Amino acid sequence: MRTFRRVCVYCASSNQVAEHWRQTARAMARCLAQQGIGVVFGGGSVGLMGALADAALAEGVEVIGVIPKKLMDLELGHRGVTELVVVDTMHERKHRMAELSDAFVALPGGWGTLEEIFEVTTWTQLGYHEKPVGLLNAGGYYDHLITFLDHAAELGFIRPAHRPILQASADPDELVDQLRRVVLPQLDGAVLRGPAGP
Ligand code: AMP
Repeated sequence: MRTFRRVCVYCASSNQVAEHWRQTARAMARCLAQQGIGVVFGGGSVGLMGALADAALAEGVEVIGVIPKKLMDLELGHRGVTELVVVDTMHERKHRMAELSDAFVALPGGWGTLEEIFEVTTWTQLGYHEKPVGLLNAGGYYDHLITFLDHAAELGFIRPAHRPILQASADPDELVDQLRRVVLPQLDGAVLRGPAGP
């Protein structure tokens, strides 16, 4: 079983979503805090990011935000977090967030969230790190994506041995438990290269 010091939570910057999605972000924050796990996030105070950070801070855990200078105004850089790391580029942001974290979770989100969770999934696939990754499938938000990923694995575009890298659960506690337990595939040239499909 893995232990986590900090988990990176990717989440929507949009404010145009129903209130219950903010409750989802708060539930994720409380779940991590109750297990003494700190939070790494995008550093903004808009959208689900703000709800997550505020709830985690209220629980008294460490909250580290990582935000590019350019987005400090756009995403209203959160001034109340334990540490706000201001970086120059998006790439630096993602790199720092990954470095600081032991696992990754995507809450419901848009382009940015999807891009971020898939990037760290590919880093696990390629052995750049050995950290588990999960989707919080609250309210079935990711149902269609999960169906698509299973389809991609059936067709061999996602190697079946790599499909478990991206876990999913609708429940925060269950998801964190899955991330603690999941057996990640070892980087294996044989899996990466073949065998040939039917
Ligand atoms: P979104 O899911 O589109 O609301 O974006 C969520 C977070 O991802 C926001 O903090 C965005 O700034 C961030 N984001 C958007 N695009 C990217 C990207 N290409 N790389 C890293 N972060 C991004």
